[in-house]
Amino acid sequence: MRGGAGFLPPLESYQIKVLAPGDATAGPATLDIGGTIGPLGCLRCSDAPCVRFAPDELAAKGPIDTTFNPVQDVCPTDAIRVAPDGVPSVSVSSCIGCGLCVARCPVGAISLDSTNVATVSSPLPPRATAVSDAATFVDGRAALARLLIDAGRVVRIDLRRVESQWSSLLDALGKPSDSRRVFGLVARNTFLVLGTASRLAYAGDTNMRIELVAWDDATVAVGELDPGRDLLDALRRLLADLAVIRARYGVKGWRVLPFICCATLPNKRVGYYELVGDIKRRLGIKVYTVPAGALEVLLDRGVATNLATIESAMYVDAEQTDLHEMLERTLRVVIPAEVGLRPAK
Ligand code: SF4
Ligand code: SF4
Repeated sequence: MRGGAGFLPPLESYQIKVLAPGDATAGPATLDIGGTIGPLGCLRCSDAPCVRFAPDELAAKGPIDTTFNPVQDVCPTDAIRVAPDGVPSVSVSSCIGCGLCVARCPVGAISLDSTNVATVSSPLPPRATAVSDAATFVDGRAALARLLIDAGRVVRIDLRRVESQWSSLLDALGKPSDSRRVFGLVARNTFLVLGTASRLAYAGDTNMRIELVAWDDATVAVGELDPGRDLLDALRRLLADLAVIRARYGVKGWRVLPFICCATLPNKRVGYYELVGDIKRRLGIKVYTVPAGALEVLLDRGVATNLATIESAMYVDAEQTDLHEMLERTLRVVIPAEVGLRPAK
């Protein structure tokens, strides 16, 4: 490991300010280099993990081996791109504040501003030889990332008001096909960013009728996506998925975790919670409900064991609809009410 050789000062000269969850100074991570304190600048990674996934991250093979959506973009709305100078830039009008690019930057060079738009810190130190030696460049980033991780963990994001973000996004999109596409990428990419293998079907794929699959060593989560509020059709599709995977894919030995990923929890009037309870009582199948806000909480907290978290904290039915309280208890965090993990009456 060459550490920061070349364009970065020696690693020993860094003092990392590690921000704790809820830290009032939450913002970009900061570095103190020889008495100069500044936001940790973009290192212009040659592989730009904030912008795209590596091909092998998308192509991991799991228990349900099917074709998959090959879109490599981390950003579900294509709002972040690498500019000619090597620094990613964000389109303010397209950013939905999902935080995925923020979580992907290993050195904390991206943060969300007060309006929930991603902002990339200027390179620090100046560009100099940064992009002239790709190997040094990548080594420097990896070393810094390790240092940050060893120092504790960079937690620099306050929980965002994802519910309002999502509502306005989905309203603005208008076209159901677009909202489904963006929503699918948010869900798949969140799993990937959290370190859980995941595959998303692409529109028109007749081979894979299941919309989203995520898996770890022992569990395969089978999901249907619904950016709307009436999840009854998603529930019907999910039951059909379960029948198909048992008949077609042979997932013996794997624990199957069926879930519905939604924009917001449905309100109590639509009968969703009663139906979920009936499915559990009559078929012995627990269907988990994962709203976008819950995924954002996992992302904010850097929760790596997200399938276990889904299982322990995201089952709601007519008898227990308080996802907010369950998630707070499981993760031992305080979640702002605005995240909206309680159904409307
Ligand atoms: S923002 Fe972070 S991940 Fe993206 S290129 Fe810069 S240092 Fe690398
Ligand atoms: S915060 Fe989300 S929407 Fe905004 S640029 Fe980053 S990945 Fe894209």
